[in-house]
Amino acid sequence: MSHATGAGYLKDGILPHMWCSGCGNGVVLGALLRAFEELGYKKNETVVVTGIGCWGKADDYLVTNALHGTHGRALAYATGVKAFNPRLKVVVLMGDGDSVTIGGNHFIHAARRNIDLTAVVLNNLNYGMTGGQVSGTTPADSRTSTTAFGNPERSFDICALAGAAGANYVARGTVYHGWELQNCLKEALTRKGFSLVEAVSPCPTQYGRNNGMKNPLDMLRWLKEKGIPQDKYDQLEDAEKNGYFAIGRLIDKNAPDFNTRYEEIRARALGVGEGGQ
Ligand code: SF4
Repeated sequence: MSHATGAGYLKDGILPHMWCSGCGNGVVLGALLRAFEELGYKKNETVVVTGIGCWGKADDYLVTNALHGTHGRALAYATGVKAFNPRLKVVVLMGDGDSVTIGGNHFIHAARRNIDLTAVVLNNLNYGMTGGQVSGTTPADSRTSTTAFGNPERSFDICALAGAAGANYVARGTVYHGWELQNCLKEALTRKGFSLVEAVSPCPTQYGRNNGMKNPLDMLRWLKEKGIPQDKYDQLEDAEKNGYFAIGRLIDKNAPDFNTRYEEIRARALGVGEGGQ
């Protein structure tokens, strides 16, 4: 029995990649490419859209179509691609800065619009590439290059934000829970409407070493401990949930996506099926 490797989606001779030792980006990319292979994604029908940051470099390695945009705007470009050509499979790779900090407005409106694409948000809890600054998902009290004595702000729950805005499918995984993450990615890629997978991922170079996790293994142990399957997480008292997060499929519904609604309204306006031309 052969197992998917996803290697067919990588450019020849492109490795090694540019990410730091112990970074989770390669694990998430590997899981995504294996999901592409298992689902039979065709390279010429797949568009990978990225923004800025370490994870935003992922499209450099791929042989699919790719669009590398400006910081925080990946979902705006992706919305245009999907609205123009609904046959394309659009996958958007963003970090926590790109998606819900600089790009927060685009994120909530893409989910509200229920545009048919899959957003893969790699949440490494800080702006890794630009020097480890605080982001919208940096946990309270964490130390970063811009919060040297602790973050005074609360952090966004990316999945709750997407769900509240109207996303059809929402799941969270971690780099430690690799197979579960791959399954969530596969599910997200098969759903119509806005689907989100948040992958909590180690950034040992910037976040870990500032927060008592001196090597990549410490960060993996942290992910193993903090990520709890949703059914078990739901059984915890509110006070016990502090610092932990639910993993797995969190939302799965089938509200009509943007393109379907658009075509319905267009047909109505043209009088199709009502004696019109
Ligand atoms: Fe990964 Fe952090 Fe290094 Fe960026 S800075 S490649 S996120 S470990």
